[in-house]
Amino acid sequence: MVTISELGKHVGEDVKISGWLHNSRSSGKLVFLVIRDGTGFCQCVAFQGNLSPEQFKLAGDLTQETSFFVVGTVKENPKQKGIFEIDVKQIEKYGDSVDFPISPKEHGVGFLMSNRHLWLRSQKQWATLRIRARIVKSIRDFLDSEGFINVDAPCITPSSCEGTTTLFELDYFGKPAFLSQSGQLYNEAAAAAFGKVYCLGPVFRAEKSKTRRHLIEFWQVEPEAAFVLHEENMKIQERLVERIVKDALHDCETELKVLERDTTVLQHVVTPFPRITYTEAVKICQQEGSSIEWGGDFGAPDESIVSSKFDRPVMIEKYPAQVKAFYMKQDPEDPRVVLCDDMIAPEDVGEIIGGSQREDNLDILLKKITDHNLPREMFDWYLDLRKYGTFPHSGFGLGIERATSWIAGSQHIREASPFPRLLDHNYP
Ligand code: ATP
Ligand code: MG
Repeated sequence: MVTISELGKHVGEDVKISGWLHNSRSSGKLVFLVIRDGTGFCQCVAFQGNLSPEQFKLAGDLTQETSFFVVGTVKENPKQKGIFEIDVKQIEKYGDSVDFPISPKEHGVGFLMSNRHLWLRSQKQWATLRIRARIVKSIRDFLDSEGFINVDAPCITPSSCEGTTTLFELDYFGKPAFLSQSGQLYNEAAAAAFGKVYCLGPVFRAEKSKTRRHLIEFWQVEPEAAFVLHEENMKIQERLVERIVKDALHDCETELKVLERDTTVLQHVVTPFPRITYTEAVKICQQEGSSIEWGGDFGAPDESIVSSKFDRPVMIEKYPAQVKAFYMKQDPEDPRVVLCDDMIAPEDVGEIIGGSQREDNLDILLKKITDHNLPREMFDWYLDLRKYGTFPHSGFGLGIERATSWIAGSQHIREASPFPRLLDHNYP
């Protein structure tokens, strides 16, 4: 069996393609069937003169999403290089599809979300999720090539990694446990065993406000590296994002075209990325009328102001300690701030990466656990990492769907997840 993505290697040959009917139209002696097989979309031309009356009728009667196969000769479209068609010689049905709910007309989001299992078949959803898959592959390729090894973190944890406001609690055989919000702390243990590590998997946050950037369950890649300091940590982030974008532009041309994505901004995503301090970012926001004061965290409108000043992702570094997680390392030059950075994507996508050097001083870490009102006994194992050969180290987290929705140009992050979990939606 040949797939649509392989048709270019079979021009002039007879092939069999199995798939589903995306759409069709008839004009007299011709029926044009667009078949999709998961790897792509392709037009099949059924000419009355080449088929028996039964076969020609079958072609004309196929309804949207009927599964079928065609056998026919592959031709390159004379007007569009790289676009292939099939001259149908035989056609057979696998299964009918009566009144497929998602027609080419406009549908409401609630309806589409409730039919996500079918909506996935639409061309734009197909394109977006293929870009997501390419991003995951780029991430793995990049990290593997930089000597990181994949050590995954658990999804069920006995305590929270950061705050508790977005935690999902579970009944773990009569004891409380939580769905993980980040693999961060486990990565630090793994970095002491393997040097450079990353985890890649789902994390869960009970985000209680509806935004177009937040999912309840999302995938995150979290690299963590021993003996890497803040500066080098940011360089790894830049190289990773540059690579993801470059690979998507190179390998997802069809998908980006389907999505009608204007790729001008993506073409500019070349290192080095601009860097500003939190303090500078606050000034920029204030000049543009934001009410943010030094010491507060940026809201989405502030991130938009900052990102609008740059033509590529911008890295904001050195936030005040009180707005960041307890494990971020104090800046030796200014103890009010920590050695962290957030990468804000252009085009109003918001933060795509949060990272930092980690606090490696046991006493400072103990004080921060107290200051953040965290249960000390839950962090005994984590503190061991500072007792037994503490080491400078850094890492970061990149949200897979955030990155996907940016590169694909999605209106809402839900399109970047195969089965998105949202505040008001977890079906199917
Ligand atoms: P935000 O300010 O956007 O809520 P955050 O500061 O909570 O982000 P981190 O805890 O640093 O984010 O998580 C690392 C990355 O995970 C973010 O940069 C972003 O790409 C992604 N991310 C965070 N929360 C979500 C979410 N609810 N849905 C999808 N992706 C998310
Ligand atoms: Mg958040």
